[in-house]
Amino acid sequence: YKTVGAALSDAAQMAPNKEAIVSVHQDIRMTYADLDALVSKVASGLIALGIKPGERVGIWSPNCVEWAVTQYATARAGIILVNINPAYRPSELEYVLNKVGCAGLILADRFKTSNYIEMLREIAPHVFDAKAEHTKAPHLRHAILLDDTARNHGLMSFAELSNLGTEDTDRVLGDLQLQLQPEDPINIQFTSGTTGLPKGATLTHHNIVNNGYFVGEGIGLTAADRICVPVPLYHCFGMVMGNIAAVTHASVVVYPEAGFEPVATLKAIENEKCTAVYGVPTMFIAMLASDAFAECDFSSLRTGIMAGSPCPIDVMRRVLSEMEMPQVTICYGMTETSPVSFQSKMDDPIEKRVSTVGVIHPHLEAKIVDENGRVLPCGEIGELYTRGYSVMHGYWEDEQATQKAIDAQGWMRTGDLAVIDIDGYANITGRSKDVVIRGGENIYPREIEEYLLGHPHIQDVQVFGVPDDKFGEVTCAWIVLSKGASLSEDEIVLWLKSKISHYKIPAYVRLVSEYPMTVTGKAQKFLMRDAMIKELN
Ligand code: ATP
Ligand code: MG
Repeated sequence: YKTVGAALSDAAQMAPNKEAIVSVHQDIRMTYADLDALVSKVASGLIALGIKPGERVGIWSPNCVEWAVTQYATARAGIILVNINPAYRPSELEYVLNKVGCAGLILADRFKTSNYIEMLREIAPHVFDAKAEHTKAPHLRHAILLDDTARNHGLMSFAELSNLGTEDTDRVLGDLQLQLQPEDPINIQFTSGTTGLPKGATLTHHNIVNNGYFVGEGIGLTAADRICVPVPLYHCFGMVMGNIAAVTHASVVVYPEAGFEPVATLKAIENEKCTAVYGVPTMFIAMLASDAFAECDFSSLRTGIMAGSPCPIDVMRRVLSEMEMPQVTICYGMTETSPVSFQSKMDDPIEKRVSTVGVIHPHLEAKIVDENGRVLPCGEIGELYTRGYSVMHGYWEDEQATQKAIDAQGWMRTGDLAVIDIDGYANITGRSKDVVIRGGENIYPREIEEYLLGHPHIQDVQVFGVPDDKFGEVTCAWIVLSKGASLSEDEIVLWLKSKISHYKIPAYVRLVSEYPMTVTGKAQKFLMRDAMIKELN
């Protein structure tokens, strides 16, 4: 495929009057023709602001129609979109703005509380008053608030931005369409921060437009599909697997809420007659546990994608049967590979679908290597490397980190451990960082988690290693019990003793009500480990 802008034009030509986006919480419905036209207006407006191709514009907002419009408009104007987590505090915002030198920033309406605007004024006073001194974010020239009252806060509104273009800027935009190259960077996407500080991956048109297309192929998307997208747009899951997969197949995306809400998601599936739903495993766990689950009519659902972190076998089974999604697939990937590299097939036998992440995507390669970089045969666990069109351009202005992540032959080191069977199905056994070495014995936390999830009163579990004087490292399990269940830490250990060998039994079991999580619902084991180390000392 070519550029993101071209993909949208194609959809608008093929299915002008079809819905493209439904934002339930904003009560907005937009057709492909309307989306295409608005995107061109906003792109023209960005050019009128003086933002040049290759410059960066950040979007600091949860899911909304304007997010998608901004995504396509920046792509069309050759501008690099910077996805900013809406949970970021102003100090984190300042860090991102400066790290990538954003020339523009689009802020969600929720930030109109004076508190946040005041903080922005502190970081970038010159955005409000041209005469003010450029201080903490010197690159930032324009801020747009996604709210009609923007002017009252000294900022421009999205509507104003979309009306800023002139015949001249329209012409510039038209010419640009002939100049943009698929290899141009289009997006700086931050990783989830599951293992530490988020890293900024630079992605190109080619990276994301093709990945979105193949993910869509993987679930057989057509113009008849309606995808429920409760996952955030500021990560690849929403932005590529949701928006781009939809655009390249003229399907509809449905945003139930600004952020993930189990009840709103279930309602959107039913009311919008969604044919597909996406989620990270914790989102599906929350939906299954919700009181609204039993009454929800899932009859429109056909397929879906569970991805982003290990998908527990039991959860996958329940999703398959109770949510009536016979064709649900699992995807594996990472921000740095735009994101998907493995996906199960819709007609794979259930056993394969619940226990693996499927096979390598078209036009990509995979290999499993040991610590010395030697390729391992099928059936052996090692680090997964992938290669092909989806591998990022690099970490933004960090040549050293890029070289560490991508080797000279173009292989991306995923940092994940995996085993690939003779038919090419991969099983992710954990992150190489998470393996616990107890007295020389390798323990894969994932294996223990799967056992524990088999207990009828356990809703969710995270197993990780903590330092130990005697064994070097031992395992610790943080467990969330099912609603209303009562189970003691000793009972859990006793139950586990009948299932797995003694050295795999967690040395510490803690019942908790929640975990430290990224906003995408990924458990941050490094923070749990820190908390346990504190407790044990
Ligand atoms: P950071 O790199 O900042 O620590 P992160 O790796 O979680 O965070 P992402 O790029 O969002 O950031 O996530 C990619 C990772 O998520 C993969 O490397 C893998 O560990 C995990 N992952 C994704 N999909 C799956 C899956 N289906 N099964 C198991 N793990 C998965
Ligand atoms: Mg990562």
